[in-house]
Amino acid sequence: MTYQQAIETGYRLLLSHQIPDARTDAWLLLSAACGIDRNFYYMHMQDGMDSTEEALYQCFLKRRTRRVPLQYITGEQEFMGLRFHVSPHVLIPRQDTEVLVAEALKRLRPNMNVLDMCTGSGCIIISIKKYRQDISATACDISGQALTVAKENAALNNVPVQFLEGDLFEPVEGAFDMIVSNPPYIPTCELAGLMPEVRDFEPRSALDGDADGIMFYKRIVEGAGKHLKPGGLLLFEIGYDQAAAVSGLMRQAGYQGIEVIKDLAGLDRVVAGALP
Ligand code: GLN
Repeated sequence: MTYQQAIETGYRLLLSHQIPDARTDAWLLLSAACGIDRNFYYMHMQDGMDSTEEALYQCFLKRRTRRVPLQYITGEQEFMGLRFHVSPHVLIPRQDTEVLVAEALKRLRPNMNVLDMCTGSGCIIISIKKYRQDISATACDISGQALTVAKENAALNNVPVQFLEGDLFEPVEGAFDMIVSNPPYIPTCELAGLMPEVRDFEPRSALDGDADGIMFYKRIVEGAGKHLKPGGLLLFEIGYDQAAAVSGLMRQAGYQGIEVIKDLAGLDRVVAGALP
């Protein structure tokens, strides 16, 4: 089979299983299976694939027809222009989360120390540290398996981060200039309605925000009081309909200058505030 025929066959197979973006996925799976880029493809599209490449590509396609997310098959996702490894132990980094990183970068001052709570793949803290080498970076997660992935990502991107394992602030000592977090925030009753890639393959513990979706915001706002310096900044990613609830929690806890920032789709995505 030639590379071009492989794309056609893959596209038809994915389409017949109602996979969204079937053509893009066929290309990305071929690219990952054969380790080729667009440039190679256009130079060699009429060449035959070798049998190992073909077998791996068929295996990747089969997994995708079962709705395994593309990124768990290829093992990676780009975020903030950087490469991140992903496994089913971590949430796949989302473009929406880049808004949180951008807001954090805007507010950072030299030599601040930053804590990322619920770090997952580590995409938030690693990007912040990559673009602001002067800050000191700490990240925490309850999942040891997620932290293994986050540590690989810190090494892959060549940035030092201190990783802590435990339930929210339990392993955290000392106070920070900034705390950032993209905690699980889907109300439990909405999980069943998510797309199969998310519902059946991404870690439930990275999605489920309890009955009201805001349990982790409550617990983080509560714990942050002891771990933010005076004037310290708290920044959250939120669900599109959670701005009022989360800013309310922060206001009650005494945060000032609370701002809600929208994502590229025009939806509320980040809430930021400062302790007096
Ligand atoms: N902080 C990670 C991310 O934004 C993980 C978030 C999570 O697991 N809820 O991708």
